This record gives sequence, C-alpha cells and structure tokens, in this order.
Amino acid sequence: MKKVLSTMFVAAFCLLNTTPAMAQFNLKKAVGGAAKAVKAATLTDADVQNYVKEYIDWMDKHNQVCPDDNPYAIRLKRLTSGLTNVEGIPLNFKVYYVIDVNAFACADGSVRVFSSLMDIMTDEELLGVIGHEIGHVAHKDSKNAFRTALLTSALKDGVSSTNGKAAALSDSQLGDLGEALLNATYSQQQESNADAYGYEFLKKNNKNPWAIALSFEKLKKLEEDAGYKKDSKWKRMFSSHPDLDKRIKTMSERAQKDGFTRPENKMPADAATQKAAKGKK
Ligand SMILES: [Zn+2]
Repeated sequence: MKKVLSTMFVAAFCLLNTTPAMAQFNLKKAVGGAAKAVKAATLTDADVQNYVKEYIDWMDKHNQVCPDDNPYAIRLKRLTSGLTNVEGIPLNFKVYYVIDVNAFACADGSVRVFSSLMDIMTDEELLGVIGHEIGHVAHKDSKNAFRTALLTSALKDGVSSTNGKAAALSDSQLGDLGEALLNATYSQQQESNADAYGYEFLKKNNKNPWAIALSFEKLKKLEEDAGYKKDSKWKRMFSSHPDLDKRIKTMSERAQKDGFTRPENKMPADAATQKAAKGKK
C-alpha cells in the first residue's frame, strides 16, 4: 500500500533518500488471526483496546522494526529517555525502518517513529512531534478516532449483514480500517489541545518544550521547500494541522514566557551513524 499515514502529526512528502532495500511502510492488514466477530452496537472500551493492541502488534510484525542496538533505536531511546507514561498509560517506542516520513502514537501508548523522519528531524523536532502525538493519546483523541474508524469501516458492513453482529473481518475490511485511520482528522480544538498537552508533558519530563514550536517550524519549512502547497493531496494532509504560523507563535511565546532558552536545534552526531548503518539487523 503506497499511502502513508496522514492523520498523524507529520505528513508524508517526496522521499528524498530511498534505497531499494528499504521497505515501504506496511499498512494493510492480512486476514487470519485478526478475524473476529464483534457486536458493533456494544463495542466496549475493552473491545476497542483489544483492537488497538491487535493493530499495533500487526504493524510491528509487518514493518521492519529497528532492533535495540540499531543506531536509530539507540537515538530514539536517548531522546525519549524519561518519557515513561502518559496519564498512567505506559509508553513504548519503536523505530520503523521505512521510506515513508511519519510518526504516530496509538491509544495503548505505543509510539512509532519512522526512520526517514529521523533522517530529517533534529532531536528537538522529533520530541515536538512525539509530545504532540502523546497529547492526542492523553486526550483520548487517538482512541476515539480508532473507534470511529472501526465502526465506519471494518465493522460497518458486518453489522448490517448479520443482524447486529459484525462478520469476521475480511482482508478488504481491514484495508478499509487502515484507510479510515489514514483519513481521520482531528478538530482544530483537538489539535491545539494536543499542542498544549505536549508542551506541558515535555516540560514536566525535563525536556525543553521549545520542541513543539521547533517541530512546527520544520513542518512549515518542509512544506515551503517542497512547494507542496499546490498539491491538493499535500493540502489535505496539512488540513488536519492548520494554522502553523499561529501555533508556532503560541508555542514559542509560551516557551519564552516560561524562561526556556531556544535550543540550537542541530542534527545530533548519531544521526549520521544511524543513516550509515541503515536498518540492518
Ligand atoms: Zn495532531
């Protein structure tokens, strides 16, 4: 599947540095163990949590996860050190060695950062992305979006065809679920709430909260450099994160007011080794 996640913080754009060995982010779910019947009308919170877990397990299995001793994994571990939980939800971090440029967080506290994003973002920018996504987890945006995607895609047909009970998920239904998640958008209010939460989350965990503003600055730069504004697809991707200028202003003013010094924001030394080492196991 060529689509990339657009619901999340970072939109995908032209891949700058692809290698033949590098896999594309694998999204589409296969049939098999995943298939199960549920009553959509009574889809409980626990059901949704189970699906989230199943979903992330499948993602981890079908995308190349950098092992612990891989430079990407080492760098991510270093920059996220101390980020252990959000609102009691334990956090876990992994790098997908994929050509797509993205990062996302799931309702169960799983945070996945794509190696191609790490190639172009500084530690601060990555932390900004991560902090923002964790904000969506804290505010249950992630879980609600997942639930909606389930009910409007994978479980939709099943319900109508089997008298209140969703049929076992087929391959195409699972594909639809992925699509629905891709196209899910958050409201402007949810976005600024996630910014604010991410800011406080980083601050509380002894990270410089300038990270949020810096990540938006990078997004803006990428958008401008690539000229993707003319591209309707690009526009759609960014529509879930409107008003970058305003958000940069809000977040940087807040950091200044709180007395934080704007970081140098340079690529760290280990970013070079991570790239050289590729995703090798
Ligand atoms: Zn967001």
